[in-house]
Amino acid sequence: MNLLSVSEARERILKHFPPLDSQEVSLENALGRVLFENISTSIDLPSFSNSGMDGFAVRAADISQAAAHLPVELMVVMDIPAGAAPKQVLGAGEAARIMTGAMLPEGADCIIPLENTDRDGQSSALLGRPVKIFHTASIGEYVRTKGQDMIQGQLVLERGRRLEPQDVGLLATLGIVKVKVIRRPRVAILSSGDEIIPPDAPLEPGKIRDSNSYMVSALITQAGGEVLRLGVAHDLLEAIRDLLDQAASYSVDLIITSAGVSVGAFDFVRAAVEENGQLEFWRVNMRPGKPLSFGSYKGIPFVGLPGNPVSAYVGFEVFVRPALGSLSGLSNVEHPVTRVRLGEPIESDGRESYLRASLKHENGQTVAYLASHQGSGNLFSLVLANALLIVPSGVKSLPIGVEIDSWLLGSC
Ligand code: AMP
Ligand code: MG
Repeated sequence: MNLLSVSEARERILKHFPPLDSQEVSLENALGRVLFENISTSIDLPSFSNSGMDGFAVRAADISQAAAHLPVELMVVMDIPAGAAPKQVLGAGEAARIMTGAMLPEGADCIIPLENTDRDGQSSALLGRPVKIFHTASIGEYVRTKGQDMIQGQLVLERGRRLEPQDVGLLATLGIVKVKVIRRPRVAILSSGDEIIPPDAPLEPGKIRDSNSYMVSALITQAGGEVLRLGVAHDLLEAIRDLLDQAASYSVDLIITSAGVSVGAFDFVRAAVEENGQLEFWRVNMRPGKPLSFGSYKGIPFVGLPGNPVSAYVGFEVFVRPALGSLSGLSNVEHPVTRVRLGEPIESDGRESYLRASLKHENGQTVAYLASHQGSGNLFSLVLANALLIVPSGVKSLPIGVEIDSWLLGSC
């Protein structure tokens, strides 16, 4: 049996996950989807120079001598609410009352905030009356100039980017109500094992509840996939074949199984896959999650995750999330790495290790402590953790205080 490095196994897997085809979605459904097209702006943003404050639009030259004890008086000749286009050019000695976001009148070159005038706190009609200005201002002050944010023709969102809420806002700003995104990967997940019962069934001696298919379903959803839950198969060749056939009949993009692929006497997933596809069974030089299988069933890529919940989780993060990212056309499928300082020494066995850890903020540093017992069946220790520490292969011990790579889990 091959003993592969994590990077070698990942590379071999990712080759089988080219990006899926595209579809068009409306803005309301764009969040979290991966862009299939480059988006450039067809307009300048802001598309017109406008006021950044409630106040007065004036000519800076007119108030160059203004001071608190020597205010300059200008005549208010226009009132420009947001949404209106100014009707006249601002002349020398004139001011226009203007609201935040309202269009700057031609002739004006700066904004005096209301509080720097004698009209602060007054909402009475000002038109045709003078306003006293107590401060000088430089050209462009409090003006949001046309094109300050984006310039017509500029590339603003790149193909392969997963759309964030602010991206959705940007698309709306540009008047784009439909975008081309990559189809969501469809993933089937099945659990196997005679000891596994559904979560709503009462516990019986020797049985455990199926956590894996729920956890993996949640991970798939989080990664932007659509889940087809196939339930639990007994340790019987026919039962497993049945569920795999169901997955194939739905033409999913990936089939994931939990457990049943080691060399145990009742591990039939392996046999069932080999009947209708190919299976490469690997020992990956990692901890947890050493037994990992990969192959295809009726032409559909197949990943067999280990049965132990923490191993299944780590296996998903290391191999399946990048595979789903690749199917989704993401330009970067790598986990963001955060460097953290060890708050305690760490022992490892030389395999590339993904250790559950709690990160704490101490004296301006992020310090990592191991989260509870590291046994790969202990799901609660994963719940307690907010990061996975990555100990490189070949390293057997690390002293307190050294810096190490980590992947953050959720927010911390
Ligand atoms: P196996 O790969 O079948 O040898 O299973 C390894 C360990 O994972 C055993 O302790 C199983 O009971 C456990 N296990 C298998 N499937 C699940 C599951 N769906 N949910 C929780 N634990 C599981
Ligand atoms: Mg089993």
